[in-house]
Amino acid sequence: MKERYIMALDQGTTSSRCILFNHSGEIKSMAQKEFTQFYPRTGWVEHDPKEIWSSQIGVAAEAMAKLGVKSEDITAIGITNQRETTIIWNRFTGEPIYPAIVWQCHRTADKIEQLKKDGVDSLIRKKTGLIPDPYFSGTKIAWILEHVSGAREQAEKGELLFGTVDTWLIWNLTKGKIHVTDYTNASRTMLFDIHKYCWDEELLRYFKIPLCMMPKVKASGCIFGYTEPGLLGGEILIAGAAGDQQAALFGQCCFEQGDVKNTYGTGCFLLMNIGENPILSNHGLLTTITAGLEGTKGYALEGSVFVAGAAIQWLRDEQKMLRTAQESEELIAKTKNSGGVYIVPAFTGLGAPYWNPFARGTIVGITRGFSQEQMVRATVESIAYQAYDVIRAMEQDSGILLNTLKVDGGASANNFLMQFQANILNAQVQRPSCIETTALGAAYLAGLSSGYWNDIEEIKSNWNLERTFQSNMDLKEREELLHGWKRAVKCAIAWALDQ
Ligand code: ADP
Repeated sequence: MKERYIMALDQGTTSSRCILFNHSGEIKSMAQKEFTQFYPRTGWVEHDPKEIWSSQIGVAAEAMAKLGVKSEDITAIGITNQRETTIIWNRFTGEPIYPAIVWQCHRTADKIEQLKKDGVDSLIRKKTGLIPDPYFSGTKIAWILEHVSGAREQAEKGELLFGTVDTWLIWNLTKGKIHVTDYTNASRTMLFDIHKYCWDEELLRYFKIPLCMMPKVKASGCIFGYTEPGLLGGEILIAGAAGDQQAALFGQCCFEQGDVKNTYGTGCFLLMNIGENPILSNHGLLTTITAGLEGTKGYALEGSVFVAGAAIQWLRDEQKMLRTAQESEELIAKTKNSGGVYIVPAFTGLGAPYWNPFARGTIVGITRGFSQEQMVRATVESIAYQAYDVIRAMEQDSGILLNTLKVDGGASANNFLMQFQANILNAQVQRPSCIETTALGAAYLAGLSSGYWNDIEEIKSNWNLERTFQSNMDLKEREELLHGWKRAVKCAIAWALDQ
């Protein structure tokens, strides 16, 4: 029988990608295209929604052509996307009324200050599981409705539609027939009640956003619709959609309560599956909906580290200590330890669990013998310490102790880092052979809801371990190192306090 495939559309912040997976979860074809980043003012970030669409449909056609497959060889499409990015368009013409405001964009910081003054922050926290921030879509939608001439009247007449990137892609794939999102993307808008699984009318009223512009919300794995036949040579079922981090959690097979994944990229994104009870964090973590099939309900605690792989880029680009990020491992091999030195790469402040926007990068404990190689080592170690802090916060909030950490992302290739992470956590670190877990998660959702895969067990059997890292550090050494790290973080915070 001819092999069939699942198509994952992975719409990221800097590029659009398409991957075709086979039944074993192997990558059979891939195409990728970067698109333009617009920075119209300091702190503002925009994308062109049409370029998002054209690059995404372009790579889909390219990935199919590379493998020589037709639409009928593809069982279903799963979509995963940069979260929170906000697009508003005219439902009749399909024209966006403003560029996409990207999640990183900080233009609505004053609206967040205002809502705190209005006393709405605790309401948002309780209902949406989020800590109010310009990242999330709510204030971005309000900003567009306020700043684009005539937008509010049009929105109230029902002429405008809002969507995160998944919604925009599905709307275009179905030529304007379907206006829908999934629970994971909805849970990042700051407008969605994560307990009742519906748009919150009180918050919509507060932000003056008409309900009629909001998409219908469905499970991440379900039948969304069919692509317009003209687009990819025939209609294809769309059967999955999830925000990138939740898709990665699914792709890592973190299906059980207590399962944790960490993506080591520019920053780190950590998610812990906490099951069916939406625990609110006391340590500055977010509570968010996990990707699942129809009829299932689940939550995760989410925390991020702002500077992870970016610290390695800093060693490479500003400090000129490395030619490539990979070289860090070779240099570290020449060291026995970091000489008692700690680097806290708080270049833009500290995130969970410290939440200090004024803290700055700090190096402590330098003595005469401190070498460049040790500086590289201390920087790589800082990535593991920061992930440790987030995981301990997750453990305290959930009451669940970490047993195994599943890893992916560019910097998870660094064996020293993975071993050090296992040592510091005193837990197993598992690295899968397929580290394209985000796209894989979207493919699994689409494949499960279309019957391509029978059940979760079948998916689990696809998850192949490339390497496990076990702790080989004794308790005393771990405690000493962690004590040093905590002192170093205190120094980074003290620098911010005494201004
Ligand atoms: P993103 O998706 O955020 O662009 P990637 O998952 O592509 O990130 O990972 C790239 C990041 O990982 C870069 O910041 C880079 O410095 C870091 N990185 C890549 N390889 C290594 C390595 N072997 N050791 C340490 N860091 C690495």
